Amino acid sequence: MKMNLKFTLVLIVMLTALLIATLLNVALNFRSHALQSATDKAEMTATIVREALTAHMVNGTMDHRHGFLDAIAKTKNVEKLWIVRAPVVSKQFGEGLVSEIIRDEIDQQVIESGQTMKQIQESSQQVRLRITIPYVATVDGKPNCLSCHQVPKDTVLGAISMEFDISDTRNTGTLTILKILGINIIFLLIAVWLTNHYLKPFMEHFNNLKEGIDRAYLGDFSFRFRTSLKGEGAEVTEHLNHLFKKMDETFGQIKTNLSTFLTQTRLNYDDPLQEAQIIIKELSDIYKFKKTIELDVGKAEIYDRIVYILTEKFGIKNFAIYEIRKSRSQRHKVYITDDKSYCTLPSDEPSECRAYRTDTDVISTDFPNLCEFCSRMQVEYICIPFTINDDVTLTLTVYAQSKQEIEEIHRKISSVKNYLETAKPVIESRILMDQLRDSSLRDGLTGLYNRRFLEEFIDKLMHQAMRENVRYSILMIDIDYFKLVNDTYGHDVGDIVIKGLAAILQSHIRASDLAIRYGGEEFTILLHNATPQGAMEVAAKIQHSFNSTKFHVGVEVLQKTLSIGVACFPTDEVSIWKVIKYADTALYEAKHTGRNKVVRFTPEMFSYDENGADKQKKA
Ligand code: GH3
Ligand code: MG
Ligand code: MG
Repeated sequence: MKMNLKFTLVLIVMLTALLIATLLNVALNFRSHALQSATDKAEMTATIVREALTAHMVNGTMDHRHGFLDAIAKTKNVEKLWIVRAPVVSKQFGEGLVSEIIRDEIDQQVIESGQTMKQIQESSQQVRLRITIPYVATVDGKPNCLSCHQVPKDTVLGAISMEFDISDTRNTGTLTILKILGINIIFLLIAVWLTNHYLKPFMEHFNNLKEGIDRAYLGDFSFRFRTSLKGEGAEVTEHLNHLFKKMDETFGQIKTNLSTFLTQTRLNYDDPLQEAQIIIKELSDIYKFKKTIELDVGKAEIYDRIVYILTEKFGIKNFAIYEIRKSRSQRHKVYITDDKSYCTLPSDEPSECRAYRTDTDVISTDFPNLCEFCSRMQVEYICIPFTINDDVTLTLTVYAQSKQEIEEIHRKISSVKNYLETAKPVIESRILMDQLRDSSLRDGLTGLYNRRFLEEFIDKLMHQAMRENVRYSILMIDIDYFKLVNDTYGHDVGDIVIKGLAAILQSHIRASDLAIRYGGEEFTILLHNATPQGAMEVAAKIQHSFNSTKFHVGVEVLQKTLSIGVACFPTDEVSIWKVIKYADTALYEAKHTGRNKVVRFTPEMFSYDENGADKQKKA
């Protein structure tokens, strides 16, 4: 109910209650006043009559009392008046007048009890009061009653009965009540009008505030307040509108900004606060997941985490994860719940998988027999393809016994994809690392990576480096006058020196660095996240270590020196191949400026040919 209507109703109820209370009070007061005044009048009359009768008695004019009583009875409003002689008086003085006999039950009771009795007879036309007052023998009056009456003290000698018409009082009371009623109704109407007139803007303001705050409670801050109030009311409204506008814009921005982090999640909450809370929670969970898998060594561990997330976070009971290798045209199982596979696709026919082939989600509720390999098992399913790189795709197949269950899972899939999206670069890097372990990419003599490795994977590594903001320093290393070793001691001794250098290189680099036999006795080292300064230090250590290594050839001791060129990615150049070339240029510089030294690449080491192409400066 609107506030002002409520207030008006309360006011009306209160004033009406007050009016009823006043009227009742007035009516009751009138009634008791009428009774009281009639009673007073009756008592006064009784006293007068008693005094008069006593006087008549003392004066011996008792016979004339009749006329006196008639005169009294004619008093205004006294309808009837009679006196009653008690039997004790009749016994002493003889029977009185006919009119003085006991007329009714009330007379009888008063004579017997000595107590005044009243009776009200009320009809629509008239109100009558009957009152009968006893005359009791007293000793303190003048004259003393007992001086004439031969009765004990307090004996009832008689009574006086009167009947009054008190209708006038009732009529006056009714009129007064009507006047009060009229005045009150006018007052009530004025009060309601004034209330409405002066309180209405406040009430409207309040209702408007309530509506806006109710909507804000549900997360909708688009409401704009309005008021007809001036001064403080208008100021409050303006401030509130300003605040709501700010909130609306801020929450809208928060939602938009946060949604960009969760591209897969379809959120549709009315309350932007709740939505932001859910997005932040999901982002925080995904961040934790990302941090964890980044520290995982192998792909298998990451797959285990994904299985854990699907089971524990999303509560998915039955599912399978497959890894498809395009280059090998193979699909192999990564994980299956309870070892129960509902997908009957043969492992050597991955291209037959509908989800993989079409790169779209396949859900059984969309169409009957959508995937022939899953439909055979009479279960509901969703198959989600997820591309990791050009070669590797994951497929996640979730099974359920009912359509309702599979649709429920389907609603969670967008969030699941956020996790897969987060895991993608980490899986990709682990796949790359697995490939790096491939023996065809290693040099047989030293066990280091060979040049083929550099050619095949360096671009991928560098893309990953750019994405993750990682830098590499490149060292190009060459043994000085190596030909002499071969020429003097033979090829086998040369091989020993090459292997010795390879061992020194490996002992000076970390697991995340890469050592490559670039060719002959020339090596390349990629130092992961090393500053130019750091790279120079590593190079100096390698050089020092190799220079001080003694190779024993029979009784002879052989010692060689190294020349090293250093260049940095992406500081010197954003193309890794160019950086390798720069390192080679620096090595060339080292060779031609005396050998046995570490040289950091500088752009001055290049000259340009007539076509504008840069070329190495000849020493
Ligand atoms: P510089 O100081 O200019 O480097 O002189 P250098 O004699 O070392 O010249 P260079 O680096 O061109 O010499 C490379 C020699 O390494 C040529 C080749 O005979 C030798 N070599 C290449 N591969 C192998 C190998 O696998 N085993 C052995 N023993 N020698 C190799
Ligand atoms: Mg050499
Ligand atoms: Mg060489």
